[in-house]
Amino acid sequence: MNSRYKDFDEVLKKKAVLLVAVTKTRPNEAILGLYNEGQRDFGENRVQELREKYVALPKDIRWHLIGHLQTNKVKYIAEWVHLVHSVDSLELLKEINRQALKHNRIISCLLQIFIADETTKFGFTKQEVIKMLDDAELNNFKNIKIAGLMGMATNTNDEGKVRNEFKSLKELFLEIKEKYYPSTENFTKLSMGMSGDYLIAIEEGATIVRIGSLLF
Ligand SMILES: *Cc1c(COP(=O)(O)O)cnc(C)c1O
Repeated sequence: MNSRYKDFDEVLKKKAVLLVAVTKTRPNEAILGLYNEGQRDFGENRVQELREKYVALPKDIRWHLIGHLQTNKVKYIAEWVHLVHSVDSLELLKEINRQALKHNRIISCLLQIFIADETTKFGFTKQEVIKMLDDAELNNFKNIKIAGLMGMATNTNDEGKVRNEFKSLKELFLEIKEKYYPSTENFTKLSMGMSGDYLIAIEEGATIVRIGSLLF
């Protein structure tokens, strides 16, 4: 069996960081291998794959959507998705709320913040997210829970740059928490760090890391 996973899992548990195993392009047998070692949180960046895996795999898996979500696809995952990491518009929140209501659920969401210096990544800017939170409309959405923030650092070997991007995300997280979600049980999740940069992310305060290639 894959004892590398066990070592990895223990290190993260000690630090109270949740490991989301990213399964994109991995066959179901590989996912079941990790499942049999105890992993329950899995993430996919596409709705279609997420859905196929949800149908085929054990029902106690907690499925995380980590990639860009189109508004018209929310309905395919709303009944069972555990956490949406990649909310990047008010329209999307509205639709998640609408679909969650249909299934009598409250869906936890993270707001994706654009921290990288790359044009291809999705997310709110700091100004956009503050503006949205200042707007009272969000309080009308009773079937979503804004649980924290997510971000992806620039894909670079420059550690200092990556660290600064994670630091800025943590600062924004604290600022939003203090101003909009001061109670301890709300707004607790900070999803940052992938195979190449998760150690830096944890040092900078990640509570969730999303790891694919290192695990498989
Ligand atoms: C693929 C992906 C990951 C995992 O990347 P690895 O480098 O394989 O660990 C994490 N987050 C998102 C949003 C991804 O698309």
